[in-house]
Amino acid sequence: MMSLKETVPMPDLLASRRLLCIQPHPDDMEYSSGGTLALLADRGTEIIYLTVTDDAAGFLSGNKDEAEERRKIRKEEQKNAGKLLGVSKYHWLNLPDAGDWNVRQARDLMLGFIRRIRPDFVLTVDPWMPYEAHRDHVMAGLAACEAAILYSLPSIASHQSVPFDPFSIQGIALAWSDRPNLSLDVEAWKERKREAIRQHESQINPQSWEHYCVYDDGRGAREGKASGTLYAESFKVLDPQLLHCVPEAGNY
Ligand SMILES: [Zn+2]
Repeated sequence: MMSLKETVPMPDLLASRRLLCIQPHPDDMEYSSGGTLALLADRGTEIIYLTVTDDAAGFLSGNKDEAEERRKIRKEEQKNAGKLLGVSKYHWLNLPDAGDWNVRQARDLMLGFIRRIRPDFVLTVDPWMPYEAHRDHVMAGLAACEAAILYSLPSIASHQSVPFDPFSIQGIALAWSDRPNLSLDVEAWKERKREAIRQHESQINPQSWEHYCVYDDGRGAREGKASGTLYAESFKVLDPQLLHCVPEAGNY
């Protein structure tokens, strides 16, 4: 009998030509996948960001009245970071950071972008990661996964009423997954990733940066252990058709 992996092979993230990165906040892709994005950009993949929230809450100091200024700062920092990684386009849903929005609302907005952008791969955060307490992460990941299985159904309207012109999303990659099935050696892109993260100046202080680097060095080494590399980033990569009624997807 054929195994699930033989019936539905793992899509090849490195073969992606147009990658849509759906992230809850403006820096999640840098932190989780910065090395991989730089590697893919160097291979000619078009990298497009879609950021779900405005990140106006994610400041270490300041007050509520400064929200508009914060949104501006976060968008500037994101573009500075993306430039270093090779991101070519930036879109935002502008939902309130840690605020009042839901999966359905985000999904409908995402459907419009997916149908317009026509990516062959979607990268987002794993909404099934245990102990993820930030709702923005769980909801953004769930909305992206749902959009990646429903985008081809013309009867499901998108927020922007974009008609569906047939195309196919080959795969979805989930970052920060506790059950990864792909580990990529990105040692050569690590410094570029770190430099990109450092562009998010409003979010970093010297102590938090030092802690992050120690943590990330350890994580990168652990993720690379199986393949004998010093620094790796890992993902759960699935064919979108496994994201519905396939219990084996968890161990795929
Ligand atoms: Zn985040």
